[in-house]
Amino acid sequence: MGKYTQQVSKFWAILVLTGALTFLFQVSHVFAYNYLGGFWPGQTGSTLKLNLGLDANMGANASQAYTDGFISWNSAGAEVSFTPASSTQSYNVLLTETNNSSVGWDGLTTLLPCNSCQYTSGTVLLNRFFTGSYVRGKIAGVATHELGHVIGLAHAGGCVIMVATTATRWDTCHLQTPQLDDINGAKARY
Ligand SMILES: [Zn+2]
Repeated sequence: MGKYTQQVSKFWAILVLTGALTFLFQVSHVFAYNYLGGFWPGQTGSTLKLNLGLDANMGANASQAYTDGFISWNSAGAEVSFTPASSTQSYNVLLTETNNSSVGWDGLTTLLPCNSCQYTSGTVLLNRFFTGSYVRGKIAGVATHELGHVIGLAHAGGCVIMVATTATRWDTCHLQTPQLDDINGAKARY
């Protein structure tokens, strides 16, 4: 290959690479973030502050995952402040665990009175039937994802913590912490 041909090849390689990066950038902004439609009242225009009731009877892995999860959100710059409630304090959201082989989910968040309402309380479950075999980062990713629902975030596409499946979130994307779109979604909500 002559020198001119090499130069031309390099030019086209850079052009194609630039195009690919531009495409990826645009795709990541197409997906952005989504909302469940509800919110915690009285907290707009400020940092979302919620007390979390960690069930004292759940397994150590679940407890660790929830702790990893709320620390991730608190330190992400998402204007979210989760505080574990002491055993005598009231809490906004109960974090606990089940062992259910008859369902397909590894984590589930229920917000009351409904997903698109002004929230009064919530419950998060990790399903040990699945999470019992997860490494720490994988179960932490599930807990962080569920805490995203607690904030009011719905599922989103791409390598974000709010992507629907653990197969994508962990096995493909290796994510256990909130990503830029997740953080932007939380910040824009309160
Ligand atoms: Zn989800």
